[in-house]
Amino acid sequence: MGWEIIRPDAVIVWKNEEVRRRLSWYYNVMKGWKPAKFIIARSLQLDAYSSIQELSEADEQDLWRHHEKTQEEFNKIWREIKENDKPRYSTYIGTAEPSFLDLKIELVKRLTTPCRLCERRCLIDRTKQIGACRLKYETYVHSAFLHMGEEAPLVPSGTIFYGGCNFTCVFCQNYDISQIAPRLGKIVSPIELAYIQDILARKGARNINHVGGDPTPSAHTIIESLKYVRSNIPQLWNSNMYMTIETLMLLVDLIDIWLPDFKYGNNKCAFRLSAVKNYWEVVTRNLKIAATHGDMIIRHLVLPGHIECCSLPIMEWISKNLPKDKILVNIMDQYTPMHLVKKTPHRWPEISRRPKAVEIEEVRKTATRLGILWEPVS
Ligand code: SF4
Repeated sequence: MGWEIIRPDAVIVWKNEEVRRRLSWYYNVMKGWKPAKFIIARSLQLDAYSSIQELSEADEQDLWRHHEKTQEEFNKIWREIKENDKPRYSTYIGTAEPSFLDLKIELVKRLTTPCRLCERRCLIDRTKQIGACRLKYETYVHSAFLHMGEEAPLVPSGTIFYGGCNFTCVFCQNYDISQIAPRLGKIVSPIELAYIQDILARKGARNINHVGGDPTPSAHTIIESLKYVRSNIPQLWNSNMYMTIETLMLLVDLIDIWLPDFKYGNNKCAFRLSAVKNYWEVVTRNLKIAATHGDMIIRHLVLPGHIECCSLPIMEWISKNLPKDKILVNIMDQYTPMHLVKKTPHRWPEISRRPKAVEIEEVRKTATRLGILWEPVS
């Protein structure tokens, strides 16, 4: 049976002009009319370094300086490709060495020793020690398949589930791979990970969906894999967005569409339910930046009893701080108590039930009142 039969909405959604407009970069790459950003990044020659060896010996501050400079050039090229009506993919299929992507690969490796990939900033050497994400340097893939349950514009989504997570959500739906046994997956090298992506592309994936757990602790392997991916396929970052600004700066030129999980409207709920500090400051900072570098569908899982403290402030913030005529929001009603909440519901009484229809309705009504477009992807 073809996927169009399972998810006819995945075809119909593209008849919606507004969805087409808001996800235009993603749509053009998905159709093969424009090159994915990683293809542009690896075709961009670095002036300052003559070899990969030289990059690996350079001072980190110098690397960041050159990254900032080359990023300006990248953005100029990207904007030109975006705005040019004619397909330009063929112009950018070449590779350079060392390229802007090689610079990013070197920098992301440096970010793992000491580890500053996410805002937990464990500062440990990931080649020797396990971080709060429960990972050392190795990247574990637990499964990779064509996902039919994602938002309509993304289906079929070539989803890769990585082990490990920098959050400790008490209600985690993927707690086995994120918290209990993150290192029981298959260890993959960057080349093997690229191969997985090419197979998913050949099977008909509309995008490569990096998820977990969370993909941020595996960013070094994911970014390096893009050197070897042969398909022109949109890269999708499906994450809690708790990465450091350094990691985000590396990702912004590689990710075509963001799928951030915006969970909490304040730091107190984030600390109590996911054990992370400064959630609000970090995630809102990152969302503002990411929204200017690629298309975006924000996911908000409505938690029962967290309407006033989380859902409504999130909708307010989105409407005031993000280009709401460019993004889409998925207001998710499928929360169900899992993991620790299921085992010991008395510890988290308000989330030990499913959300009520009136709670979902209140969030959706508020979103509509604030001018947020949610219907086509919820
Ligand atoms: S990715 Fe985050 S949680 Fe994992 S070791 Fe690095 S800083 Fe710590």
